[in-house]
Amino acid sequence: MRAHALILLGAPGAGKGTQAREIARHFGIPQISTGDILRDAVKRQTALGLAAKAKMEAGELVPDEVVCGIVEERTNEADCQKGFILDGFPRTISQAQFVERMLGARGKGLPLVIDIEVSEELLLKRLTGRATCSVCGEIYNIYFNPSKVEGICDKDGGKLLHRADDNEATIRQRLEAYHEQTRPLIEYYQGQNVLLAVDGNKEPEAIAKGVTDFLSKS
Ligand code: AMP
Repeated sequence: MRAHALILLGAPGAGKGTQAREIARHFGIPQISTGDILRDAVKRQTALGLAAKAKMEAGELVPDEVVCGIVEERTNEADCQKGFILDGFPRTISQAQFVERMLGARGKGLPLVIDIEVSEELLLKRLTGRATCSVCGEIYNIYFNPSKVEGICDKDGGKLLHRADDNEATIRQRLEAYHEQTRPLIEYYQGQNVLLAVDGNKEPEAIAKGVTDFLSKS
């Protein structure tokens, strides 16, 4: 993979996190999820967490300056020197422009963008059925990919948690934010000729294989 930064674009529930974890494993570069960093800050009640909590609970986007600051800081860490995967960032045109400025200032070229497209019906099932391991972050789904023992991670026995914002009202708001603020990025990246669209309705393993094969050649 030649690009320094890989961006995973897609609606909430499209499978960005699942695919990012697979790609990170395959290429040995870190997955940076702004949602995970924000959730951790909320849990630890840091200043960042307190600033972001209300927006996250409402299913709205956290202000650009806040998330851009997180990404700038995190991608400056040593493990990002060989490249990184952004999962859930950028979500607005202004965040996308920030990524370009940040990469440019570090002497790196444009990011490569994978857009995961999933039908609305499947998104809703993915979100309402999602459960995440509180220890390792592995993602399960009660409908499609249940753990062997209910509520317990197969890998490390960690407790599986349902995300606070995976409820119907918040999901609706998150999808609206996606359509209004994030979808314009598809055209933006098409214009830069850096976008690969993948069919996210398929099985996660099949999607991961297609994406990693493509990235190995690009
Ligand atoms: P996610 O885990 O990516 O679904 O993100 C969960 C929530 O964190 C979102 O609904 C937003 O409130 C916030 N968030 C995560 N990433 C961003 C971002 N790039 N820009 C603004 N808000 C974000």
